Amino acid sequence: MTTDKGDKLILTFRGVRGSYPVPGKKTREYGGNTPCLQFAAGNKNIILDAGTGICQLGRELQSKDIDIFITHLHWDHIMGFPYFAPIYDESCHINVFAPEGAVASFKLLMNKPFFPLKLAEIKAEVNFEEIAASEIKEITEKNNFTVKTFSGFHTGKNLIYKICWQDKSCVYLGDYEHQDENLEDHEFLQFLNGTDLLIYDAHFIDDEYNGLSGSPAKKGWGHSTWEEGIKLACRVEAKSLAFFHHAPERTDKELKELESWAKGELATSFAAKEGLCFKF
Ligand SMILES: [Zn+2]
Ligand SMILES: [Zn+2]
Repeated sequence: MTTDKGDKLILTFRGVRGSYPVPGKKTREYGGNTPCLQFAAGNKNIILDAGTGICQLGRELQSKDIDIFITHLHWDHIMGFPYFAPIYDESCHINVFAPEGAVASFKLLMNKPFFPLKLAEIKAEVNFEEIAASEIKEITEKNNFTVKTFSGFHTGKNLIYKICWQDKSCVYLGDYEHQDENLEDHEFLQFLNGTDLLIYDAHFIDDEYNGLSGSPAKKGWGHSTWEEGIKLACRVEAKSLAFFHHAPERTDKELKELESWAKGELATSFAAKEGLCFKF
Protein backbone atom coordinates (compact mmCIF):
# COMPACT_ATOMS: atom_id res chain seq x y z
CA MET A 1 0.00 0.00 0.00
CA THR A 2 1.52 3.34 -0.94
CA THR A 3 0.58 6.92 -0.27
CA ASP A 4 1.61 10.19 -1.82
CA LYS A 5 3.69 11.39 1.10
CA GLY A 6 5.39 8.37 2.56
CA ASP A 7 4.00 5.70 4.76
CA LYS A 8 2.75 7.55 7.82
CA LEU A 9 -0.71 7.84 9.21
CA ILE A 10 -1.09 11.27 10.76
CA LEU A 11 -3.86 12.36 13.07
CA THR A 12 -4.39 16.09 13.52
CA PHE A 13 -6.54 17.18 16.44
CA ARG A 14 -8.74 19.91 14.93
CA GLY A 15 -11.03 20.39 17.94
CA VAL A 16 -10.62 18.89 21.41
CA ARG A 17 -13.11 20.77 23.58
CA GLY A 18 -16.37 19.31 24.85
CA SER A 19 -19.85 20.83 25.00
CA TYR A 20 -19.33 24.27 23.41
CA PRO A 21 -16.54 26.36 21.89
CA VAL A 22 -14.45 28.41 24.30
CA PRO A 23 -12.30 31.03 22.58
CA GLY A 24 -10.19 33.28 24.78
CA LYS A 25 -6.84 33.69 26.38
CA LYS A 26 -7.35 30.96 28.99
CA THR A 27 -7.89 28.23 26.38
CA ARG A 28 -5.48 29.38 23.68
CA GLU A 29 -2.88 26.68 24.22
CA TYR A 30 -5.07 23.57 24.24
CA GLY A 31 -7.73 25.11 22.01
CA GLY A 32 -11.38 26.04 22.24
CA ASN A 33 -12.94 24.32 19.22
CA THR A 34 -15.30 21.37 19.63
CA PRO A 35 -14.52 17.82 18.41
CA CYS A 36 -13.04 17.13 15.02
CA LEU A 37 -10.26 14.71 14.11
CA GLN A 38 -8.45 14.48 10.79
CA PHE A 39 -6.71 11.24 9.84
CA ALA A 40 -4.49 11.59 6.80
CA ALA A 41 -2.28 9.19 4.93
CA GLY A 42 -0.76 11.01 2.00
CA ASN A 43 -3.59 13.07 0.51
CA LYS A 44 -6.25 10.64 1.75
CA ASN A 45 -8.37 11.77 4.64
CA ILE A 46 -10.94 10.51 7.09
CA ILE A 47 -12.69 13.02 9.34
CA LEU A 48 -14.33 12.12 12.63
CA ASP A 49 -17.00 14.47 13.95
CA ALA A 50 -17.94 17.90 12.67
CA GLY A 51 -17.56 20.16 15.69
CA THR A 52 -16.28 23.69 15.16
CA GLY A 53 -12.78 22.30 14.56
CA ILE A 54 -13.95 21.27 11.09
CA CYS A 55 -14.35 24.90 9.95
CA GLN A 56 -10.64 25.67 9.69
CA LEU A 57 -10.00 22.17 8.30
CA GLY A 58 -12.47 22.93 5.51
CA ARG A 59 -10.43 25.97 4.49
CA GLU A 60 -7.24 23.90 4.29
CA LEU A 61 -8.40 20.60 2.85
CA GLN A 62 -7.26 19.91 -0.69
CA SER A 63 -9.16 16.66 -1.20
CA LYS A 64 -12.42 16.70 -3.15
CA ASP A 65 -13.51 13.27 -1.98
CA ILE A 66 -14.33 13.52 1.71
CA ASP A 67 -15.62 11.06 4.30
CA ILE A 68 -17.00 12.32 7.60
CA PHE A 69 -17.98 9.93 10.38
CA ILE A 70 -20.25 11.37 13.06
CA THR A 71 -20.33 9.77 16.52
CA HIS A 72 -23.67 11.32 17.54
CA LEU A 73 -25.75 14.43 17.01
CA HIS A 74 -25.00 16.45 20.13
CA TRP A 75 -24.36 20.03 19.06
CA ASP A 76 -20.67 20.04 19.88
CA HIS A 77 -20.10 17.24 17.34
CA ILE A 78 -22.02 18.69 14.39
CA MET A 79 -22.15 22.48 14.78
CA GLY A 80 -19.24 23.05 12.40
CA PHE A 81 -20.81 21.21 9.47
CA PRO A 82 -22.79 24.16 8.03
CA TYR A 83 -19.51 26.13 7.94
CA PHE A 84 -17.41 23.39 6.34
CA ALA A 85 -16.34 25.13 3.12
CA PRO A 86 -16.24 22.01 0.86
CA ILE A 87 -20.03 21.63 1.07
CA TYR A 88 -20.26 24.80 -1.06
CA ASP A 89 -17.84 23.48 -3.67
CA GLU A 90 -19.66 21.74 -6.50
CA SER A 91 -16.59 19.66 -7.36
CA CYS A 92 -16.63 18.01 -3.91
CA HIS A 93 -18.14 14.65 -3.14
CA ILE A 94 -18.85 14.19 0.57
CA ASN A 95 -20.05 11.10 2.41
CA VAL A 96 -21.49 11.65 5.86
CA PHE A 97 -21.83 8.54 8.02
CA ALA A 98 -23.97 8.72 11.16
CA PRO A 99 -25.60 6.38 13.68
CA GLU A 100 -28.89 4.69 12.87
CA GLY A 101 -31.83 7.07 12.97
CA ALA A 102 -29.61 10.17 12.99
CA VAL A 103 -29.68 11.24 9.36
CA ALA A 104 -33.22 12.69 9.32
CA SER A 105 -32.46 14.85 12.38
CA PHE A 106 -29.12 15.90 10.95
CA LYS A 107 -30.80 17.03 7.71
CA LEU A 108 -33.41 18.92 9.69
CA LEU A 109 -30.74 21.01 11.39
CA MET A 110 -29.19 21.92 8.06
CA ASN A 111 -32.38 23.70 7.04
CA LYS A 112 -34.38 26.80 7.82
CA PRO A 113 -34.97 28.12 10.47
CA PHE A 114 -31.78 26.69 12.00
CA PHE A 115 -29.63 27.80 9.09
CA PRO A 116 -30.23 30.38 6.32
CA LEU A 117 -29.82 27.83 3.52
CA LYS A 118 -31.68 24.68 2.67
CA LEU A 119 -29.77 21.43 2.38
CA ALA A 120 -30.80 21.35 -1.29
CA GLU A 121 -28.86 24.59 -1.85
CA ILE A 122 -25.54 23.01 -0.89
CA LYS A 123 -23.35 22.76 -3.96
CA ALA A 124 -21.31 19.63 -3.21
CA GLU A 125 -22.71 16.19 -3.74
CA VAL A 126 -23.42 15.08 -0.18
CA ASN A 127 -24.52 11.52 0.59
CA PHE A 128 -25.76 10.48 3.99
CA GLU A 129 -25.49 6.94 5.22
CA GLU A 130 -26.53 5.37 8.51
CA ILE A 131 -24.42 2.83 10.33
CA ALA A 132 -25.71 0.13 12.64
CA ALA A 133 -24.04 0.02 16.00
CA SER A 134 -25.35 -3.11 17.60
CA GLU A 135 -22.25 -5.09 16.86
CA ILE A 136 -18.66 -4.80 15.83
CA LYS A 137 -18.96 -3.95 12.20
CA GLU A 138 -16.57 -3.22 9.41
CA ILE A 139 -18.23 -0.33 7.62
CA THR A 140 -16.18 0.32 4.61
CA GLU A 141 -12.80 0.36 3.14
CA LYS A 142 -12.17 3.92 2.06
CA ASN A 143 -8.97 5.43 0.84
CA ASN A 144 -6.97 2.55 2.26
CA PHE A 145 -8.62 3.12 5.63
CA THR A 146 -10.88 0.61 7.32
CA VAL A 147 -13.41 2.04 9.74
CA LYS A 148 -15.04 -0.17 12.36
CA THR A 149 -17.76 0.69 14.84
CA PHE A 150 -18.90 -0.36 18.25
CA SER A 151 -22.02 0.73 20.07
CA GLY A 152 -21.18 3.65 22.36
CA PHE A 153 -21.78 4.34 26.03
CA HIS A 154 -23.15 7.87 26.19
CA THR A 155 -26.56 9.47 26.49
CA GLY A 156 -28.52 8.35 23.42
CA LYS A 157 -27.21 6.67 20.30
CA ASN A 158 -23.51 7.03 19.91
CA LEU A 159 -20.78 5.25 17.98
CA ILE A 160 -17.25 4.34 18.94
CA TYR A 161 -15.02 4.37 15.88
CA LYS A 162 -11.85 2.48 15.21
CA ILE A 163 -9.70 3.74 12.37
CA CYS A 164 -7.38 1.13 10.92
CA TRP A 165 -4.66 1.80 8.42
CA GLN A 166 -2.07 -0.80 7.50
CA ASP A 167 -1.12 -2.32 10.87
CA LYS A 168 -2.02 0.83 12.86
CA SER A 169 -5.21 1.62 14.71
CA CYS A 170 -6.83 4.37 16.74
CA VAL A 171 -9.98 4.06 18.85
CA TYR A 172 -12.07 7.17 19.40
CA LEU A 173 -14.10 7.14 22.61
CA GLY A 174 -15.12 10.72 21.97
CA ASP A 175 -18.12 10.92 24.26
CA TYR A 176 -18.08 7.99 26.61
CA GLU A 177 -19.10 7.24 30.17
CA HIS A 178 -17.24 4.42 31.90
CA GLN A 179 -19.19 1.59 33.47
CA ASP A 180 -17.70 -1.10 35.65
CA GLU A 181 -19.19 -3.84 33.51
CA ASN A 182 -17.31 -2.52 30.46
CA LEU A 183 -14.11 -3.82 32.01
CA GLU A 184 -15.69 -7.28 31.88
CA ASP A 185 -17.15 -6.90 28.38
CA HIS A 186 -14.98 -9.16 26.27
CA GLU A 187 -16.13 -7.76 22.91
CA PHE A 188 -15.56 -4.18 24.02
CA LEU A 189 -12.10 -4.94 25.40
CA GLN A 190 -11.25 -6.88 22.26
CA PHE A 191 -12.27 -3.89 20.12
CA LEU A 192 -9.82 -1.68 22.00
CA ASN A 193 -7.10 -4.19 22.64
CA GLY A 194 -3.56 -3.11 21.78
CA THR A 195 -4.65 -0.02 19.86
CA ASP A 196 -1.88 2.42 19.02
CA LEU A 197 -3.87 5.38 20.32
CA LEU A 198 -6.91 5.52 22.57
CA ILE A 199 -8.67 8.88 22.45
CA TYR A 200 -10.65 9.15 25.65
CA ASP A 201 -13.46 11.34 26.98
CA ALA A 202 -11.75 12.95 29.99
CA HIS A 203 -14.32 15.69 30.54
CA PHE A 204 -14.18 15.27 34.32
CA ILE A 205 -11.75 14.25 37.03
CA ASP A 206 -12.89 11.62 39.53
CA ASP A 207 -13.64 14.15 42.27
CA GLU A 208 -15.95 16.13 39.99
CA TYR A 209 -17.63 12.97 38.72
CA ASN A 210 -18.29 11.79 42.27
CA GLY A 211 -19.48 15.18 43.51
CA LEU A 212 -16.49 15.72 45.84
CA SER A 213 -15.41 18.78 43.88
CA GLY A 214 -18.35 20.83 42.67
CA SER A 215 -21.94 19.79 43.00
CA PRO A 216 -23.85 17.78 41.86
CA ALA A 217 -22.09 14.50 41.05
CA LYS A 218 -21.85 13.90 37.30
CA LYS A 219 -22.77 10.22 37.11
CA GLY A 220 -25.08 9.59 34.18
CA TRP A 221 -24.02 12.75 32.33
CA GLY A 222 -22.38 10.65 29.61
CA HIS A 223 -18.75 11.53 30.25
CA SER A 224 -15.78 9.95 31.93
CA THR A 225 -12.67 10.98 33.86
CA TRP A 226 -8.90 11.24 33.49
CA GLU A 227 -8.41 8.51 36.09
CA GLU A 228 -10.78 6.10 34.31
CA GLY A 229 -8.97 6.77 31.03
CA ILE A 230 -5.70 5.61 32.54
CA LYS A 231 -7.41 2.55 33.99
CA LEU A 232 -8.91 1.53 30.64
CA ALA A 233 -5.77 2.30 28.61
CA CYS A 234 -3.74 0.05 30.92
CA ARG A 235 -6.37 -2.67 30.79
CA VAL A 236 -6.40 -2.84 26.97
CA GLU A 237 -2.68 -2.12 26.67
CA ALA A 238 -3.18 0.91 24.45
CA LYS A 239 0.21 2.15 23.28
CA SER A 240 -0.76 5.80 23.84
CA LEU A 241 -3.63 7.59 25.51
CA ALA A 242 -5.01 11.02 24.54
CA PHE A 243 -7.28 12.81 27.01
CA PHE A 244 -9.99 14.52 24.99
CA HIS A 245 -13.31 16.42 25.22
CA HIS A 246 -11.88 18.87 27.73
CA ALA A 247 -14.48 20.56 29.92
CA PRO A 248 -15.17 24.08 28.61
CA GLU A 249 -14.27 25.67 31.96
CA ARG A 250 -10.89 23.87 32.15
CA THR A 251 -8.13 26.44 31.61
CA ASP A 252 -4.76 25.86 29.93
CA LYS A 253 -3.11 26.07 33.33
CA GLU A 254 -5.38 23.40 34.78
CA LEU A 255 -4.98 21.16 31.75
CA LYS A 256 -1.22 21.47 31.98
CA GLU A 257 -1.30 20.43 35.64
CA LEU A 258 -3.59 17.49 34.91
CA GLU A 259 -1.42 16.42 32.00
CA SER A 260 1.69 16.52 34.14
CA TRP A 261 -0.03 14.40 36.83
CA ALA A 262 -1.28 11.93 34.20
CA LYS A 263 2.17 11.49 32.64
CA GLY A 264 3.42 10.50 36.08
CA GLU A 265 0.76 7.76 36.16
CA LEU A 266 1.10 6.70 32.52
CA ALA A 267 4.07 8.06 30.60
CA THR A 268 2.48 7.52 27.18
CA SER A 269 -0.55 9.67 27.97
CA PHE A 270 -1.08 13.28 26.90
CA ALA A 271 -3.80 15.89 26.74
CA ALA A 272 -5.11 16.40 23.20
CA LYS A 273 -4.33 19.86 21.94
CA GLU A 274 -5.78 21.67 18.95
CA GLY A 275 -3.36 21.50 16.03
CA LEU A 276 -1.33 18.69 17.55
CA CYS A 277 -0.24 16.02 15.05
CA PHE A 278 0.12 12.45 16.20
CA LYS A 279 2.21 10.26 13.90
CA PHE A 280 1.50 6.54 14.04
ZN1 LIG B 1 -19.47 15.99 23.19
ZN1 LIG C 1 -22.38 13.97 23.54
